[in-house]
Amino acid sequence: MKIQHVTYYVCQFCGKKFATEKECKMHEAKEMNLDMLEYEWLLSLEQAEREAASSMAICNNEKTRKEHKKFSDLVLAFRLKHDLEPCDSIGV
Ligand SMILES: [Zn+2]
Repeated sequence: MKIQHVTYYVCQFCGKKFATEKECKMHEAKEMNLDMLEYEWLLSLEQAEREAASSMAICNNEKTRKEHKKFSDLVLAFRLKHDLEPCDSIGV
């Protein structure tokens, strides 16, 4: 008996399945009316924001607060610019 493990990627908006991460991301970008570069940029900004938030949780000082604010502002500015919901996180 052969057991096959099938990995697929699911669109976080509509639940559609894809064989590769790339296809899935391209589809998600389209759902947000972004191009691939913009979508990846947004994902990395949000990732940086989450990381800054967790460093702030570990050590809350002026430096970590500043760092967190910097990324929150960037994410917010991006979302406003592209007409996306400001607080509707698309994180994992
Ligand atoms: Zn979708």
